[in-house]
Amino acid sequence: MHDDSEVAVLRLGHRPGRDERMTTHVGLTARALGADRVLLPDNAGQSKETVADITDRFGGPFGVELTDSPQGVIRNWEGRVVHLTMYGERVQDVEDEIRAAHGDEGRPLLIVVGAEKVPFDVYEEADWNVGVTNQPHSEVAGLAVFLDRLFEGRELERDWENADRHVMPMETGKRVESTDEE
Ligand code: SAM
Repeated sequence: MHDDSEVAVLRLGHRPGRDERMTTHVGLTARALGADRVLLPDNAGQSKETVADITDRFGGPFGVELTDSPQGVIRNWEGRVVHLTMYGERVQDVEDEIRAAHGDEGRPLLIVVGAEKVPFDVYEEADWNVGVTNQPHSEVAGLAVFLDRLFEGRELERDWENADRHVMPMETGKRVESTDEE
């Protein structure tokens, strides 16, 4: 978020067709829960368009980019790398250390999530392999819980810039207001 050093999310792997919604949801979840940008594999152009379109309508700032070398992004990252995996250390055991490295040391953080089998190099290159439970589930769920732990809930309070609409929270019903009506 704005008051911290950068947090980027890298989606590793994308099977066209099968992973379309999941890759899009990695991007939308990264945006909604406080990351600054998402990097998607270059065969995920449709997911990139969807995330960019949501950002145009509901606000940002949030960046979405394609990369032809996701593992190159990890190797060249000038900061710390967290790889989310069910085999990793328990998030509740390492979150303070990660938050300190990101917040106090001001180091940009790259959060890596996989799709299919993740190459072992990634486990070795990551500064932390982190499990959100050590049970198999979803990259979207793992990312959401991890970001909320990283930001300690502050991401829920953020303001959105350059939105052309916003949702009015309601007990019942649905109301979306255009920002130029205010
Ligand atoms: N079986 C694959 C492997 O061995 O690398 C992982 C497949 S899983 C459906 C896809 C992604 O979800 C993983 O790469 C990981 O990023 C994320 N994931 C699944 N369970 C997780 C957990 N318990 N904690 C953190 N991330 C998890």
